[in-house]
Amino acid sequence: MTETHNLFIMSRLLVFTFASMLLCAVHCYPSEGSSEISTEQEDNPIYANHLKEEENDVSTLLEKANKNVGQELDEPTVIGDIAVPTDLGNADPCTARGCKWPKSSDGNVYVPYVISNQYSSREKTIIERGLQSFGTSTCVQFRRRTNQRDFVHIQSRSGCYSFVGRRGSGQVVSLSRQGCIYYQIVQHELLHALGFNHEQTRSDRDQHVRILYQNVIRGMAYNFRKIATNNLGTPYDYNSVMHYGRYAFSSNRQPTIVPIPNSNAVIGRATQMSRNDIIRINRLYGCGRSG
Ligand SMILES: [Zn+2]
Repeated sequence: MTETHNLFIMSRLLVFTFASMLLCAVHCYPSEGSSEISTEQEDNPIYANHLKEEENDVSTLLEKANKNVGQELDEPTVIGDIAVPTDLGNADPCTARGCKWPKSSDGNVYVPYVISNQYSSREKTIIERGLQSFGTSTCVQFRRRTNQRDFVHIQSRSGCYSFVGRRGSGQVVSLSRQGCIYYQIVQHELLHALGFNHEQTRSDRDQHVRILYQNVIRGMAYNFRKIATNNLGTPYDYNSVMHYGRYAFSSNRQPTIVPIPNSNAVIGRATQMSRNDIIRINRLYGCGRSG
């Protein structure tokens, strides 16, 4: 082999290496709100239940991220993505006195928060964008905690979950680094912390959706339990960021939630709070009213 030939091979190798590096710069960086599917995800039964267009549904993301939720030591009991207080005694304080965050004399509702240092700066940015989004259209203002007693403590635990409403002292809002760092998931979990439940559990949901229990994974029916919700005079909303998708908790790729009367209506595809989500916050917290 001549020296020229060797040189030729070496330069080809170099070009190849450089091209691979370029490709990697485009594809190897974890993308925000990624919609890439790996073969590993295709093998996953939870994932396989969803059509491609459903993969970024809030409920699809939650199902994927919450496969082993609440199983770390010192985690609360978690049902779906809702943490359940275990120290209730006789009365649930949220039923007894409401679990709203208090209103300041300037009319704003300041909700103190702490973000754990587990997150990368990219992840922190997504979480903070979610927090700030409330302040642009409602009187709920998330503010970094200084010395307030009650606050939300955002941490990466075993999935995405939150308590419903203010619980007192530092309450965990878990946004796992594995699967919860999406703008719509941040909004969804914080809406729980502000006191909101899932849209498809609304007291009037039977007029707007039909739940097909025969398609629901065994043992998961509690996710479709109806609740005596305060609907605050707002219409049932398929576009709420709190609405689950058509195939949520499906055992057989058949729909579990079908809208009525128009079964083709789009449900549970919100990528951000809907107009009605915003109206509900404003009504629950009396934004625009003092005291
Ligand atoms: Zn939820």
